[in-house]
Amino acid sequence: MIPVLVVGGGPVGLSLAIRLGQLGVPAVLVEQHPDTAAFPKGRALSIRSMEIFHSWELEKEITAAGLPREHLAFYSGRTLTDPSGTRIVTGPGARPPVPSPTYTLLCSQDRLEPLLRAHAQRLQPDRIRFGTELVDLTVNRDGVTVELSVGGHHERLHARYLVAADGARSGIRGRFGIAMNGPSDVSRNLNILFDADLGQHIADRPSAVYTIAQPGLHGAFLAVDNQRRWLFNLIADGDDVDLDSLDDTACIGLIRAAAGLPDLTVTVVARQVWHAAAQVADRFRHGPVFLAGDAAHVTTPTGVSA
Ligand SMILES: Cc1cc2nc3c(=O)[nH]c(=O)nc-3n(C[C@H](O)[C@H](O)[C@H](O)COP(=O)(O)OP(=O)(O)OC[C@H]3O[C@@H](n4cnc5c(N)ncnc54)[C@H](O)[C@@H]3O)c2cc1C
Repeated sequence: MIPVLVVGGGPVGLSLAIRLGQLGVPAVLVEQHPDTAAFPKGRALSIRSMEIFHSWELEKEITAAGLPREHLAFYSGRTLTDPSGTRIVTGPGARPPVPSPTYTLLCSQDRLEPLLRAHAQRLQPDRIRFGTELVDLTVNRDGVTVELSVGGHHERLHARYLVAADGARSGIRGRFGIAMNGPSDVSRNLNILFDADLGQHIADRPSAVYTIAQPGLHGAFLAVDNQRRWLFNLIADGDDVDLDSLDDTACIGLIRAAAGLPDLTVTVVARQVWHAAAQVADRFRHGPVFLAGDAAHVTTPTGVSA
């Protein structure tokens, strides 16, 4: 029997596997996808997360994968290139020094996760199993028995404890009927991951978020590398906007209008529709099964819940 089974190879599951490895607790992590997430999703690492990475001696590596701290700023304007746009700096020097050995960092999730995965593998050799899906789970007297699917083959495993770090739509939370409380639909959003040579246009205003407000167009450019790789977050204005129906041509039109660059060459890489929610689970535990990360609670990007 293994002491701990972690389900989910996102930032929370990988971090837990690392911490358990440091404590000498063997933990098997299973992740259904063959690789870490390709979509940038989260980008800001709070000072507390950075303190944890600092104590794990991962800070240097993660900082090298992130953006310069001078980019910790918020821009807002009618367009990305609006000469009257404003920029508020929030990075080091902008406020009294925080009593911490480190600082907030912008490092997109697609660059962070491979670093966490590699570290988890060092600490839990052969136990970080991507391409492995949990398909069934039974709680028994000694812990849990799970059924895993690996490339079409099924495998059974017994664990004393299971941690469900399986994300906001946690199937494990659903299996135990644990309800989420709080608003589930604070805003409807479309995130467009795209490639465009915008670095030259923001060189005088590098920021983490570039909020754009025009009649009929509310959204934000979210820095990924602040050069060519970008997210555009479109917020649905009203219930009648069908975000799923926006195709690549419509997305390119929106990006050009928001950038104020009608001839900008844009390649759409991927799109994700998502709903911002502010919810917390009724309980975080069902016997030997614990919820962690988004499976236990979700917040909106701004922390505002209404
Ligand atoms: C479009 C989008 C934009 C976002 N932007 C931001 C942002 O700007 N800032 C921010 O802080 N956060 C952002 N987030 C939220 C952030 O991505 C999450 O808070 C974070 O990923 C949660 O980490 P996690 O490890 O709890 O869950 P996840 O990252 O969701 O990982 C859960 C993992 O579990 C795996 N899994 C699920 N079921 C099984 C199973 N049965 N067997 C095996 N594996 C399974 C999934 O494949 C997944 O890899 C965004 C999210 C989205 C969707």
